[in-house]
Amino acid sequence: MVKKAAIEAFYSRLAESNPAPTTELHYSSPFQLLIAVILSAQATDVGVNKATARLFPLAPTPETMAALGEEGLTEYIKTIGLYRTKAKNVIATCRILLAEHGGQVPTERAALEALPGVGRKTANVVLNTAFGQPTIAVDTHIFRLGNRTGLAPGKTVLEVEQKLLRVTPEQYKKDAHHWLILHGRYICKARKPECGRCVVADLCTFKGKAL
Ligand code: SF4
Repeated sequence: MVKKAAIEAFYSRLAESNPAPTTELHYSSPFQLLIAVILSAQATDVGVNKATARLFPLAPTPETMAALGEEGLTEYIKTIGLYRTKAKNVIATCRILLAEHGGQVPTERAALEALPGVGRKTANVVLNTAFGQPTIAVDTHIFRLGNRTGLAPGKTVLEVEQKLLRVTPEQYKKDAHHWLILHGRYICKARKPECGRCVVADLCTFKGKAL
């Protein structure tokens, strides 16, 4: 699927089947989204939502979250993988937000990536989902999809991200991240892609297509 028309059709069909895609993480401010994304590394959105449903009402801001301290925070997130490291990173991040950013989540990539527990992928999610920037965070689903479909083949996540940014038509860039993630999560699954009910099956170049 290297042709421009095929890529246009690929996105327009995903857009048609899901006109307003968004993250499955629950949050009600850029700060809460940032924390939810930090917590979601190697964990499921459902697991993170369960924990933050208790945590966010009590600690909705960097001030209140920092006040919990690492031990206090651990109580709320210990059902999530890597919770000790995550507790450390979240509290350190809150302190930096308070000391250097007036308690706000920065809108620049470099400042985001300087926060503990925040890498390129997390920064991309926050820039895109909280601030509406046309970034594409490549997770395991998007990496697989980019390679399988022929949309953006690449050996590394960065390569796939850069290709996606190059080939994705402007009008689809802002939502591309969510369309691709949801398609990878529910249709183009790792072990058994559901090609029979895939709206882009005729455009996909995957040799193992199960139609
Ligand atoms: S046809 Fe199959 S492999 Fe290709 S995108 Fe659809 S689900 Fe994935």
